[in-house]
Amino acid sequence: MRLRKIKGADETVAVSPYVIHGNSNGMIDVKALFETEHSLHLEIGMGKGRFLMELAKANPHINYIGIERYTSVLIKAIKKMEAAPLPNLLFLCMDAADLEQRFAPGSVERIYLNFSDPWPKDRHARRRLTSIEYLKRYDTILAPHGQIEFKTDNEALFDFSLESVENAGWKLLSYTRNLHQDPKMNEGNIMTEYEERFSAQGNPIYKLVACR
Ligand code: SAM
Repeated sequence: MRLRKIKGADETVAVSPYVIHGNSNGMIDVKALFETEHSLHLEIGMGKGRFLMELAKANPHINYIGIERYTSVLIKAIKKMEAAPLPNLLFLCMDAADLEQRFAPGSVERIYLNFSDPWPKDRHARRRLTSIEYLKRYDTILAPHGQIEFKTDNEALFDFSLESVENAGWKLLSYTRNLHQDPKMNEGNIMTEYEERFSAQGNPIYKLVACR
């Protein structure tokens, strides 16, 4: 993704009360962060945060952490939280490659991956958020019954993800190649920024749900 660096974004993220701060290599003490202890769901690569904010508003009994590696993107989500704060949502600026250093084993109930970067070159396949390498990281931090939910408009990335799930020995619980025409899987669907843009262009949206 091409990214325009926003002046002051690093500084805003560094002091925002909506961002998890502290040792960037240390385990996060999730219990100490939220007002109430609930199960924890993550979105990795949340972008401007619209999906997660709607989800957190609709599910006050779940705590959410949105992970985004670029401050220039995260700052847009922070602005939205400043306008309408939610007690069960926090943001974390980090590269998802370091998930196991930040989240205790078995501490996460669900991981959302929405319109993840496709990394189309074969030599970059391990950077895809649905690669076997990433599934191993999710395997460590997910609770025994934990799930991943993945949406994309990119057919090649979706096919790659189906293969990863199978090769990693995970179970495919459900999938569709046209989410918006699938009444069962589309029930309660919250559109992300990218989803709205791509579906408006007529692209079908692919989705899978998997567990170990
Ligand atoms: N999920 C949003 C949506 O559907 O509208 C944004 C999709 S955008 C294509 C992908 C986002 O994931 C970008 O903001 C990018 O910076 C972030 N991202 C990609 N790889 C990441 C990683 N390894 N760790 C954290 N964030 C990542």
